Amino acid sequence: MNNKDLPGLYVHVPFCKTKCPYCDFYSITDPSLIQSWLDGIEKEALIYNREWLPAFDTLYIGGGTPSILDEYGLGRLMDILRNSFSFAPDTEVTIEVNPDDITASRLACYEALGINRLSIGVQSLQEAELRFLQRRHTAIAAERAIGLVQSSGFRNFGVDLMYGFHGQTRKSWTDTLERVLSWGPAHLSCYQLTLSDGTPFGRMVSEGTLKRATEEQERQFFIHTSHFLQDHGFIHYEVSNFAKGEEYFSCHNLKYWQRAPYLGLGPGAHSFRDNARWWNCRSVRDYCRLLLEGKRPVAGQERLSPEQVRLEMLLLGFRTARGVDMDDIVDQPFNGEVLARLTSSGIVRVEENRVSPTLNGYLIADRLPLMFFSLISFFIKVFY
Ligand code: SF4
Repeated sequence: MNNKDLPGLYVHVPFCKTKCPYCDFYSITDPSLIQSWLDGIEKEALIYNREWLPAFDTLYIGGGTPSILDEYGLGRLMDILRNSFSFAPDTEVTIEVNPDDITASRLACYEALGINRLSIGVQSLQEAELRFLQRRHTAIAAERAIGLVQSSGFRNFGVDLMYGFHGQTRKSWTDTLERVLSWGPAHLSCYQLTLSDGTPFGRMVSEGTLKRATEEQERQFFIHTSHFLQDHGFIHYEVSNFAKGEEYFSCHNLKYWQRAPYLGLGPGAHSFRDNARWWNCRSVRDYCRLLLEGKRPVAGQERLSPEQVRLEMLLLGFRTARGVDMDDIVDQPFNGEVLARLTSSGIVRVEENRVSPTLNGYLIADRLPLMFFSLISFFIKVFY
């Protein structure tokens, strides 16, 4: 189970076979740079290995598409990490995989390397929707991949899905959910499609060739998803995340939401410790060059002020069913009154000195903290 005091380790694998038009994660489609990237990871791990002691208890290999790595590449990555850092016994080790890359021998390799959790990017089981999202796998390929996972030793696997986009209906989404549940996943991440500026889909929205779902449609999808999965025994433990039991919560992602320390390696990776955050450059070439020159590949950093710490604590806390500590809210003037109003309107609930969002609260999780954030400190910052 999650230990908030131990740090988590994230490795960004910035390679994909194709680019999805909605994606704003950093990745490139040129696999010829994989060896240089691995050399870079080795150098970056050496920079941090003495600073990050005693041990990590989660390792998350994300991307990009980490399953693009062949057995040699992944084996080398795991060797680098194990030779550079300590890991607690029972470390949660997750890898993100594309259904198209799953084979029996790949799964055996993951197991042999100590990977004990799979996060499978399925997104939809409707062929037309997968074509719209320009995913490289088909629904049939996803079914076949899950068959292989089920006959392997992996019991702890999760599925990533996407909803709330053009052409999807409540019927097609429910059909996807039902079929995915028949596979017996331990975890589900259900993300609302985000149409960010700078992505091809974002540009299509500005040109008027792609329609956004309305706020009401998004709300209905969200509520339907939560009810449906809770009725099937899942815990809705974070805005977009559901687990079959507490033992299947993503320990690594809990670190982000609980503001535990984490180290990110690789281009574009973020790190956090002691209220300081830093992030790497978003270019494999620059990342490798800087490390070859003996420099840290850091593109930016910030140290959070006490106000930012407080706002972030509420922002992240209100994304989770665990919520925030009551004492962190009522320490400000007027917040008792705000809390009473939000409780009576069914946005939050108070239990055992914790304030947590209801389903309606999840819907406005990003706005909730501002309601508690003292206007006084805001005016002080703006006018003095
Ligand atoms: S596979 Fe994942 S990381 Fe790669 S482009 Fe698609 S959504 Fe982005």
